[in-house]
This record gives sequence, C-alpha cells and structure tokens, in this order.
Amino acid sequence: MTTLPVQKLYIGGEYVDATSGETFQTVNPATGEVICEIQIASEADVDRAVESARAGQKIWAAMTGAERGRILNKAVALLREHNDELAKLEVLDTGKPIQEADCVDVVSGADCIEYFAGVAASIHGDHYDLGSAFAYTRREPLGVCAGIGAWNYPIQIACWKSGPALACGNAMVYKPSEMTPLTALKLAEIYTEAGVPAGVFNVVNGFGPVGAAMTMHKDIEKVSLTGSVPTGKKIIQGAAETLKHVTLELGGKSPLIIFADSNLDNAVSAALMANFYTQGEICSNGTRVFVEESIKDAFLDKLVSRTKAMKIGDPMDPETHVGSLISADHMDKVLGYIEAGKAEGATLVTGGGRYLENDCDKGSFVEPTIFTDCREGMKIVEEEIFGPVMSVLTFTSEEEVIKRANDTEMGLAAGVFTKDIQRGHRVVAQLQAGTCWINNYNITPIEMPFGGYKQSGIGRENSLAAIEHYTQIKSVYVEL
Ligand code: NAD
Repeated sequence: MTTLPVQKLYIGGEYVDATSGETFQTVNPATGEVICEIQIASEADVDRAVESARAGQKIWAAMTGAERGRILNKAVALLREHNDELAKLEVLDTGKPIQEADCVDVVSGADCIEYFAGVAASIHGDHYDLGSAFAYTRREPLGVCAGIGAWNYPIQIACWKSGPALACGNAMVYKPSEMTPLTALKLAEIYTEAGVPAGVFNVVNGFGPVGAAMTMHKDIEKVSLTGSVPTGKKIIQGAAETLKHVTLELGGKSPLIIFADSNLDNAVSAALMANFYTQGEICSNGTRVFVEESIKDAFLDKLVSRTKAMKIGDPMDPETHVGSLISADHMDKVLGYIEAGKAEGATLVTGGGRYLENDCDKGSFVEPTIFTDCREGMKIVEEEIFGPVMSVLTFTSEEEVIKRANDTEMGLAAGVFTKDIQRGHRVVAQLQAGTCWINNYNITPIEMPFGGYKQSGIGRENSLAAIEHYTQIKSVYVEL
C-alpha cells in the first residue's frame, strides 16, 4: 500500500493549508486503497490563488516571450527527468496501465509545453499602413486563466492548458479532477523549480463548487474546461456573469468508418486503440464502429481474437493492457450500459462483465466488450459510455454511412479507413467532427488543433490555434 502525506494547495509558489479545514480521500481504483487525504479549497482560497496569480502574471507578462520560453523549457526537462515517478503516480490515481502512462501521459504533456515554449518568442501583432497614419496590433495575454481538468489524462490535461496559457504570458489557477488530484501538484512544483515566478501556476483542489467559484470569479478572464457536456453547459452559464472567454473540451460519441477496401489489420488495430486504450476512458474514442457489410465477418474474427488476447490486471504490471476504471461508481455505470446493450437486442460477442480474476476483485475492472448487431436508438450507440464498450454497426453505402455517422449531437472526432484516398478526403469533408483521422485513430500530435464540433466543445487546444484562445488583440492607431 502506498500512503502519501496530506496534500495541501499550491498557491504563490508554495504549498499552503486550505482554510476550509476539509479534506477528501483519493483512492487507487485498482485496489480500493486510500492513497491520501487532499485538502479542499474554500472560496477564500480561490480568492487567494487568484490574487497571487494576478501578482505573478504581472512579472511573467513583463518578460519577453523568449525568456518565458527558456523557463518553460526547463520545466519540460524536469518533467522528462521525473517521467517514471509521475507516470507511477498517475497509474496509482487513475488505474491506467503503466505501459501507457510511461510513454504517453507525461510525454505528451512535456511535448505540449515544449511546443509552446518554442512559440512564445514568436507571438506578435501586425502592422497596417494607413496613408498618413499607421496602425499596429499588440497580441496581449488575457491575465488570469482558470483551468479545470477531467480525470482520464490528469497531467497531460494540466500541461495542455498551462503550456499555451503560460507561454502567452498568462497566469493560471488550475483545478484537477477530484478523482485525480495528485500530478497537477507535482507540475506546480516543477514550474517553480524551473523558475516560473510565484503565483503564475496555482493548484486548488476540490469538487464542482471550487470549479464554479473559479468560473464566476470576477478577476479570472478565461476558463478552460476538459470535462463532460453537462459541466460545459454549467461553465457557460457561470462564465456569462463576467463574460469570460471559454474553451470547452467535452465528450464524444465518435464514428470509426471502415470501408471494405481497408487494410484490415490496421483497421482492427485502430478499432482496438479507439475503444480499449486507457480502458476506453478517452473522449475522442471511436465507439461507433461502422464496418462495410461485406467485410463484417473477417473484421470481427480478427477483432475478437485480438481482444481476447488483451491482458487485464494490475496496472503497475508492464504487461497489462487493460487497467482499472476510475471508480466503482463509474464501473457500475459502464456495466449498466452493457446490460442495456443486451436488453436492447445487441449481440454480445466478447467481454460483457466485471473482471475479477488475478486479484482484480477489489478494483473496478471491466472486460473489453464488443457488441454487434447494433443500431441507432440503442443507449450503447447513442450515449458516451467512457469505458471499454465497442458497438459495431454495418453499412452498405458511403452516403448512408456519412449520414449515420453525423447523426449525433456530439462532434469531437471521426476516423475513416480506406485505401481509396479520394474517398477518404471526400468522406472526411462531410463528417461533422473537429478532429478526423484517415487510416489511423487517436493520434494527437501537438502541431494539430484538437477540439470539438457541435456539443463536443468550443475552441481548440494544441497548435498555433491555442494562441488565439489565450491572447487578446489590442489595435493601436498612430497619427503621423
Ligand atoms: P466532469 O464534467 O464530471 O468534471 C470535469 C471537471 O469539472 C472536474 O474537475 C470537476 O470537478 C469540474 N466541475 C464539476 N462541476 C463543475 C461546475 N459546476 N463548475 C466548474 N467545474 C465543475 O467530467 P469528468 O467525469 O471528470 O471527465 C469525463 C468527461 O470528460 C467525459 O465526458 C470525457 O469525454 C470528457 N473529456 C473530454 C476531453 C476532450 O479533450 N474533449 C478529454 C478528456 C475528457
């Protein structure tokens, strides 16, 4: 059993006690064991973090972009140096397999900060000749930004929000999910060690009300959420009072379309990645797998045998492919969807239950589950499950599958498998999704904008597009 000391808040470049006097427990979902107590921020603590952020931001914004970039690059080096320790902490808090956390979570967080550290010196305004006058624009930071995270990729999300925010000269008050509060605190320590001024990155832990206090805070200029659609709607309502800038990275029910001419092995790999990586707890997952009727049997043969070969178990074991879901409550929700799939007439071809072998009975393990004979209207096809449950549907024409793929209120991502590259582009052009892949899935290089259409979100993370979301433009007219 791993026990850590009580975790405090991180404000003004140091750990401080919360004034609420309240704590909650963070639990290892793979064992049910308590990892440690976490102090809960009060509204007064949020005020204190914002005040500290305002002071820090003035110092930070007064530096050149190149100076900020150099400091952020030191944070990148420290993140990479501490990869093993951070990855283990992430596994402890999330239940995800170490083989993933080791090579994705911290790595993609560090890659993001490195990208924006490189961009920091090139953030600039424009110049306009106006005859006897000229005008120029300054691209200025927003001020203090709030970051609110989900629990599936805790350190990556904290980096994806703080990297661009800080590179642009903002300060951030960050609230990780209450399910996974540990690694954001480590990121705060790393920023301080790298030389980021006190107050530029603060961490306040707690539940929804802490996020709501941030969202409504008069001295916070922007809120960026990664979370569910219902929380996104509450954030928009809360932010309306002070008309904050808002970025929302929300849920999905994305289609993965596999045409008969696809490289079948690659398509099967993508379907597995798009449904069972991180136990299916990925927002952009392609959980509606549309397979062209003529290859359905061949596709399923390969898919099912590879699914059965996946190793479920101790997330700390480097051989494990499928770890624990985030909590017992979430497991019950996922198992409820599986029961709904059975009741609504989908055919269960593999998985379908809780996994209890190999000492997994104390955790929240669910077998990778595949349903066929799925159709629109079934709960498993309509709703985001956020667990290892794949729905396979069949189609016979391109036109039909595009219409069905778009028949959802979500629009986070989509994938198309085909060897006909013209068809690939033609289909993607008609899909209502913010991120699309042709002949791959769930690859998110930092240079590529990431975000959703429709109810999957507002705004984009990563890439130069993020600079737009963390700066504001000042126009200056100069009479000569
Ligand atoms: P959630 O919406 O329950 O919680 C997200 C965060 O919002 C948490 O930190 C929570 O404490 C906070 N929160 C809750 N109520 C709030 C309120 N009223 N005001 C302000 N903050 C509040 O989501 P979750 O269960 O942590 O994460 C799962 C969801 O996140 C899924 O829907 C998934 O698709 C989505 N997600 C999206 C992306 C993306 O990039 N689009 C990435 C990961 C997860």
